[in-house]
Amino acid sequence: MVKTADQNFVRKFNTALVLEMVRKEAPLSRASISAQTGLNRSTVSSIVQELLETGFLIETELQGDKVGRPGILLRLNPNGGAFLGIEINVDYLAGVLVDFSTKLLEKRFIPSDPTQGSEAILTAVQHMITDLVAQAEQRDLPVMGIGVGLPGVVDTNRGSLVYAPNLGWRDTPVRDMLQQLFNLPVLVDNEANCAVLGEYRFGISQDVSDVVYLSANVGLGGGILSDGKIFRGSSGFASEIGHAVIDPAGPACGCGRFGCWETFVGTRAVVDLVKKRLPGSGSSLVGKSSVDFADVLSAAQSGDALALDVLGEVGRFLGIGITNLVNIFNPRQVVLGGTLGKAAELLLPQISSTVFGESLLSTHADLRLDASALKEEACLLGAVSLVYDEVIRDPIGWIVKRQNSNHNRNED
Ligand SMILES: [Zn+2]
Repeated sequence: MVKTADQNFVRKFNTALVLEMVRKEAPLSRASISAQTGLNRSTVSSIVQELLETGFLIETELQGDKVGRPGILLRLNPNGGAFLGIEINVDYLAGVLVDFSTKLLEKRFIPSDPTQGSEAILTAVQHMITDLVAQAEQRDLPVMGIGVGLPGVVDTNRGSLVYAPNLGWRDTPVRDMLQQLFNLPVLVDNEANCAVLGEYRFGISQDVSDVVYLSANVGLGGGILSDGKIFRGSSGFASEIGHAVIDPAGPACGCGRFGCWETFVGTRAVVDLVKKRLPGSGSSLVGKSSVDFADVLSAAQSGDALALDVLGEVGRFLGIGITNLVNIFNPRQVVLGGTLGKAAELLLPQISSTVFGESLLSTHADLRLDASALKEEACLLGAVSLVYDEVIRDPIGWIVKRQNSNHNRNED
């Protein structure tokens, strides 16, 4: 029987529902999938059969229920495929390989320097991906695709990094470049959008659908989740919160303007402020040949007054900006992530007193302020989610798409 477009759509929707339920709650029997999704038993059986045949699900142990017929339980098949999550950030590159059950298999982290230029950095990315693909091949895992988080304005339709002030890149077609090199489907997004997706699927935001995520590194990125979806704005470039000007007479920003929020709260701002106040401060950092954010953090954790003062000040500026975001977006949760997330214990009390002291009453009644749970893996696992979401939306279609990519490779 030929299926209509509507029937195909419903089938895909239901298939995604079944896969996501098994991912979250495995092991599950067909009967409990049916009970929890509301789909009838025969629909569930037919979808499960197709997913078993394509290798996305496996049958595992029998249910330990003594009453009635024992049911066979289902799980995502770890060998059903693998995903690569890549993060290109201002001063580091990172990558993960996860299996189809989204278990982390491999992780890479490489410090980088934006002055190396885009060609050198992209070559390093290429080597990292080659290495991770080889790791997947060794395990006999077909790579389903590559998700990439990028630090700047990203055009997700064209797959390009439109502008990254702190990297100095413009109009870099990252998706097409990687697709051509690896003959695999590639999806790209802004790194903070990836991070909020990562927290939503795997981390601190799993039960929350309205989230403001702050990715505070050298720059300050924002990922805003509204009703479970990334808030993108009319052209897809929303959430450039780091470049909201909070003092036109403030320090110069990488974007060419002055007094952007990130010039007060990024890791560079923290280090610059400490260095400026170092002479005669009596700080434990005096006399060090170079000071980076990790030094400031460990000094603060050991009670260094200067480091604590600077982090307190940065916490205050974070609080002011977060208050504005809370008043505009009324999120249920604000998550502090990125490198500054490592200092969350020291920053959150100051942020909290500013936000709860200054935001309008009606918007913060249910507000939570949290540190990122996934930390340096937030963006990477979110990048994995970009691909994972597409695969579960249409698993059978994705197999065809992937085969076509490989077919192209064989013909090259
Ligand atoms: Zn700026």
